[in-house]
Amino acid sequence: AVTVVVLVAVVVVTYFSLCFCSHQVLRIQAKDETQLSLIKELEQMFEQLDFWRDVSDVSTPVDIRVPAETLDQVKEYLDSWEIGFETMIEDLQAMLDEEQEEMESAARFGEARNTDSFDYARYHPISDLYNFQDMLVAENPNLVSKIVIGQSYEGRPLNVLKFSTGGTNRPAIWIDTGIHSREWVTQASGTWFAKKIVEDYGKEPVLTSILNKMDILLEIVTNPDGYAYTHSSNRMWRKTRKPNPGSSCVGVDPNRNWDAGFGGPGASANPCSETYRGPSAHSESEVKAIVDYVQKHGNIKEFISIHAYSQMLMYPYGYTYTPVKDQAELHALAEKAVSALTAVYGTRYRYGSIINVIYQASGGTIDWTYNQGIKYSYTFELRDTGRYGFILPANQIIPTAVETWEALLVLMSHAKNNS
Ligand SMILES: [Zn+2]
Repeated sequence: AVTVVVLVAVVVVTYFSLCFCSHQVLRIQAKDETQLSLIKELEQMFEQLDFWRDVSDVSTPVDIRVPAETLDQVKEYLDSWEIGFETMIEDLQAMLDEEQEEMESAARFGEARNTDSFDYARYHPISDLYNFQDMLVAENPNLVSKIVIGQSYEGRPLNVLKFSTGGTNRPAIWIDTGIHSREWVTQASGTWFAKKIVEDYGKEPVLTSILNKMDILLEIVTNPDGYAYTHSSNRMWRKTRKPNPGSSCVGVDPNRNWDAGFGGPGASANPCSETYRGPSAHSESEVKAIVDYVQKHGNIKEFISIHAYSQMLMYPYGYTYTPVKDQAELHALAEKAVSALTAVYGTRYRYGSIINVIYQASGGTIDWTYNQGIKYSYTFELRDTGRYGFILPANQIIPTAVETWEALLVLMSHAKNNS
């Protein structure tokens, strides 16, 4: 009977969700600048390609999800230019089925009744994450409160958990996860961070000293419509869910929508692109809510925006080659944070400014926050380096959160001691 239930569940899910049947993820390694631009041309040649990791430099491979029907053409193109590639993921749908099965079997144990019994080693639908936040607030009324900073396009609340031990308008540290909805390890890590904060306050000296001086603001589901959609319809959804007038393509890249070099290189004007910047800066309510909150708060000293994947820790800028005036301090702090992270399990990270470590990207979150005067602006790309990419197995959630937390403590302590 159990087998029947599992089979039915898998069939139902496959039926309602977009199938990535026989999609492959190719890892492409360019030898020189010419090959890099030839890879870039693929984006124009085939609209259906999904660049999991965009063209950067010769030291960083490009990962592209290729639908079954264009696989032969793409491989022929690469072969004809003698561009090296390997198949990272043989059959994406098979991997998604496994992920789904694991989630369904965990869900059979029912929903957690408190944050102690919450399963941090699983991926959860959005309703679980909203319930988790409410339970955490109810269990820790003197430490945690929930602020609703706005609404998503589809009307979901944009919740921020505020961890505060008193005072009024204390200096604050902002952390967000999940602005790109398919980066599931980030929302899962954010959930783990929230529990970690309430467990460690009053016990662990570093976090305790931070919270005795500053508030921590944590937005776990920063793109809730996208996250719900990754569960209901399309696991690979990255953008917001607002329709684009005049186009059949939906959504804006919320990490190209900020008023920092908006519309410049490294963002697309095409609504069908995964990096579509939107019609104007702050056009997305999920972005505008943070903009308004940050400006109204006026005392945020550190802003950390968390993505996946690639294993990188970066500071501004992304939209310009001009170094930030605090480059030396931000670089040294990144190095220190990365070495704390690596010390846990040996996970290797690259670090530096966005434009140097990955590529030019305009309209990004932390470029805007830095220009608002938030000196300690950082962005993470969590695990892995592409073996699983966005489909990181759930058994890596806790190790990812544990190592990232060590880096966060370094970043947060520094902000506490220097602001
Ligand atoms: Zn991202």
